[in-house]
Amino acid sequence: MLSNIKSLAKEIAPQVKNWRHHIHANPELSFQEFETAKFVSDRLSEFGIDHQNGVAGTGVVGLIKGKNPDSKIIALRGDMDALPILEENEVSYKSTKPGIMHACGHDVHTSSLLGVSWILNQLKDQFEGTVKLIFQPGEEKVPGGASMLIKEGVLKNPSPQSIVGQHVMPLLPVGKVGFREGLYMASADEIYLTIHGKGGHGAMPQFAIDVVAIAAQVITALQQVVSRSADPKIPSVLSFGTVLAKGATNVLPNSIYLEGTFRTMDEPWRAIAHQKIRKIVEGICESFGAKADLEIRKGYPFLINDPELTRKMKQAAIEYIGQENVVNLDIWMAAEDFSYYTQEMPGCFYRLGTRNEEKGIISGVHTPTFDIDEDALEIGCGLMAWLAVQ
Ligand SMILES: [Zn+2]
Ligand SMILES: [Zn+2]
Repeated sequence: MLSNIKSLAKEIAPQVKNWRHHIHANPELSFQEFETAKFVSDRLSEFGIDHQNGVAGTGVVGLIKGKNPDSKIIALRGDMDALPILEENEVSYKSTKPGIMHACGHDVHTSSLLGVSWILNQLKDQFEGTVKLIFQPGEEKVPGGASMLIKEGVLKNPSPQSIVGQHVMPLLPVGKVGFREGLYMASADEIYLTIHGKGGHGAMPQFAIDVVAIAAQVITALQQVVSRSADPKIPSVLSFGTVLAKGATNVLPNSIYLEGTFRTMDEPWRAIAHQKIRKIVEGICESFGAKADLEIRKGYPFLINDPELTRKMKQAAIEYIGQENVVNLDIWMAAEDFSYYTQEMPGCFYRLGTRNEEKGIISGVHTPTFDIDEDALEIGCGLMAWLAVQ
């Protein structure tokens, strides 16, 4: 089976590359993946794979039934959406839509999962069980396509016992893959805060309520949520990336606007932290006579890789590409809506190395120069097919 999959991966890799180029050149933003979904659906039809279109808008869900199809079911997930970024790469497959770019590798995930689908469909009389293919919309945008697909019943009829997802990793050299058992990625909540005070002349602060000075206190005090209230064993981050106040050297503004993010890996603590943030913000503002308008918008939950499943997948990966090419990953405080699946069932979210320093392919995800070493495509689809069969 292993050598079968390897040779099928080699055979389909040039196509996967073409599909990736097509999807990369025609990126679509979250929940608007109409053409991408149609492209996926057309390929699945060509392969003769049963599938359903329009799940949670633009999702495509396919089924490959092997022998004894009800005996066990695994789901494979690939996300399809692009980002609002203007591509700076000068490549033949450059985005044809100014301001929209596949800068997170979801073009790679979609085209690879098509490759996996083709491989597994060739082998369906050689493995037991069913493979559910989930081509997912809207990973990059809250509430996340994963949560919408789950609401629409993607984990039912038939219900998979486990789910596997693959994501590119530009920090990891091409040829390698990374796994982590247990806690892997963070929950991410968005903080939106407007502080209303009273503007005035910068020379006469006694007649004003200075929102700039109050915001400075708020930002400083909130750091203690992480440094003093969080259990040191629980990873937590609180960062503000936007602070906007439009006064002048001698003008105190009426209001100030802040945006930030709170990330952690523990649901009870996450809820407590939200309360603490609110209490500190409102307390400080009130004590200075200002009014706080605070919204904490909940994003994705934390992502936990099922230890048993992940160990099994890692072992299978070692068989596929060798011990020296399988690495252990660190905790990562970014967020991923694959986490919704892992809250429902055993899941394994692993990383595909795409970096090549010699070729100058080093840019991070979500940057205008992100790209991959396409040698990763053959490994990506062959390995995922192998993991599914295992
Ligand atoms: Zn992303
Ligand atoms: Zn991504």
